[in-house]
Amino acid sequence: MATVSVAKELRCVGCRTCEVICSFIHEGECRPVLSKIKVNREPFTGATRIEIADDCDLCKGKPECIRWCPVGVLKYERE
Ligand code: SF4
Ligand code: SF4
Repeated sequence: MATVSVAKELRCVGCRTCEVICSFIHEGECRPVLSKIKVNREPFTGATRIEIADDCDLCKGKPECIRWCPVGVLKYERE
């Protein structure tokens, strides 16, 4: 089984490009609320938490969130 996983969460700059590209490709709209990947910031620490929904389809084998992340936070993994 293959998944998108979070390799370097501390590097995440919170730009939310991954959310925008995911929603655009799958829903035709740049609306992070529709994205399969969610980026949340802890209000007090500023730490980032990234979650990927179970229904992520890996963009049919070419994960766009990985491609567009500007700092290489995400990675493709095969079990
Ligand atoms: S695109 Fe990369 S740096 Fe930007 S929010 Fe997503 S994981 Fe973080
Ligand atoms: S791999 Fe594709 S469907 Fe899954 S979270 Fe990334 S952009 Fe969205």
